Amino acid sequence: MASTAPSPKKKPSTILRITLFWAVVVFGALIVYALTGNHENLKQVPISDVITQANKGEVTKIVVEGNQLTITPKGSDKATQTSVKDSSSSLQEQGLNADAPVTVEYKTPSATGDILWNLAIIIVPVVLIAVFFLFMMRQAQGQNNQAMGFGKSKAILYGDDKKKVVFSDIAGNDAAKQDLEEVVDFLKHPKKYEALGAKIPKGVLLVGSPGTGKTMLARAVAGEANVPFFSISGSEFVEMFVGVGASRVRDLFAKAKKNAPAIIFIDEIDAVGRRRGSGMGGGHDEREQTLNQILVEMDGFDNGSNVIVLAATNRADVLDPALLRPGRFDRRTNITLPERKDREAILKVHFKNKPAEENVNIDALAAKTAGSSGADLANIANEAAIIAARRSSKKISNADITEAFEKVAIGPERKAKVMNEDEKRMTAYHEAGHALVGHVAPDSDPVHKVTIIPRGGTGGVTWFLPPEDRNYTSVIEFKDILARALGGRIAEKIIYGDDRVTTGAGSDLRKATEIARDMVIEQGMGTKLRDQVFHEDNGGMVFDKITHERPYSDDTAREIDTEVAELIKEASQRAEAILKANRKSLDALAEELVKKETIEETEVAEILKDAKLPKEAALY
Ligand code: ADP
Repeated sequence: MASTAPSPKKKPSTILRITLFWAVVVFGALIVYALTGNHENLKQVPISDVITQANKGEVTKIVVEGNQLTITPKGSDKATQTSVKDSSSSLQEQGLNADAPVTVEYKTPSATGDILWNLAIIIVPVVLIAVFFLFMMRQAQGQNNQAMGFGKSKAILYGDDKKKVVFSDIAGNDAAKQDLEEVVDFLKHPKKYEALGAKIPKGVLLVGSPGTGKTMLARAVAGEANVPFFSISGSEFVEMFVGVGASRVRDLFAKAKKNAPAIIFIDEIDAVGRRRGSGMGGGHDEREQTLNQILVEMDGFDNGSNVIVLAATNRADVLDPALLRPGRFDRRTNITLPERKDREAILKVHFKNKPAEENVNIDALAAKTAGSSGADLANIANEAAIIAARRSSKKISNADITEAFEKVAIGPERKAKVMNEDEKRMTAYHEAGHALVGHVAPDSDPVHKVTIIPRGGTGGVTWFLPPEDRNYTSVIEFKDILARALGGRIAEKIIYGDDRVTTGAGSDLRKATEIARDMVIEQGMGTKLRDQVFHEDNGGMVFDKITHERPYSDDTAREIDTEVAELIKEASQRAEAILKANRKSLDALAEELVKKETIEETEVAEILKDAKLPKEAALY
């Protein structure tokens, strides 16, 4: 398996630094040598003076070294003067008497010392300058390299066994695993397929909500096939500089091909792979170039290259059709949110290494967590362990798990937030309103818990939980959801009057309007506009804004608004009828909430046992 460990070679800049250091040391030594030792400055005198002094007997010794004379005067044992004679004539020829009392010593000039010295003076500065320039050039190149490294992909290679994921590490997701087992086989035995003339698929799209285990599955494919796994996120391709994305794609594919057979995993492919089109003004040219490069690289795979690209997204509908054509991401694996038994399996995986009390009920948690992804469940298990550790307990209890679940699902309790008595009462009526309408409405999920302790940005919470997993929602169920969502605001209205309602209901109303619009526009659940959807397509991007193409007339738009308004009106009338008809139960629940702050499922049912659905609120 390929390794990414850098080789222990010295960096060129280190070598240069060392060279420069020694050059400076040598040059320094030469200067020291030049300034010390035998290089005293002797007095320079004309040759005629030397001859005269010698003839007079004032000089005891003359050393002749080429045409250089070193003169030792009488009464001294050290040379004090120098002179230069004419190289063509001897001392006698220049006037030295033959009987002058002077010793003339002839030495062959020590050429080496001088030549070396002269050479050093010339060469060392040149070498120093050369080294300096070389160093500067390297430095500049280094920066250049860094700039070029920008275009390199930041793909992470997972190859070592410690991080290896295999299919058995992934709980549930059986259908997806089955699909991907085929890919594992392609990677393991490509010859088998080639022999029959089959083309090995180049791209598999993993489609599913965030946290459903797409990355894990892709890694497991690599783990099972025992091939390197290059992982990169779509958003990493897009940088400030034009052309970087495309260059990263090129680099990523080149790396993978070098390590083939291999898996490339592109997370969030929708970040680059959105439908191309009306990108006016060039704002999205960069993204398009990146996408084009991905397409080019995938087309460029020859059959033998054996690199398979897995890409993950939760928005397959926004992808460019060119990505989905045969030969590219022509295979698709849908990864759904886990069902109850899969949730139980996932929870068991994540509680495996966490000591829990005997009576801990994983099954009950699995039942409560409909709609949670694998990542949510992993998060709950982790939070439970943290909560248990904070209590300094050695084992995780059921209460820890419940607290962890609630923390993950609706945010942590904000007990520290102080509410005054009036606000507390108002919140209690608001939440009791939701709970009562939800409890009485025949097609609503049962109330799981009501609390007036602020949680995750809300003043209080009324929590409805489906008794079992549900894949579809009917019109009457939607209508009950709308009525209970408006129950809070209507309760405030009944108790405090029309103009004393508060901002506490803001998010309820937004949610209700969203649901009503979704019913009419996306689900064909309007009264007049039944069985027809008015989905607005994301037309494309114009100067960073998504343009909507409205595939219906202004009249229809008005009709949609009317339908939405009617749904909301009907819901608030039903809520009002329910609350007014059961005023005693409403008061009782609100009182209990003020007292206890949090009331659980069974207690809520007990307090509201006499509440009934009035005729005006019945849908059938
Ligand atoms: P995605 O790529 O779909 O967003 P990931 O593969 O990154 O999701 O999953 C996030 C985390 O959720 C994983 O690290 C794992 O802990 C947990 N998880 C998700 N699905 C499963 C599963 N089926 N079995 C076990 N753990 C899972």
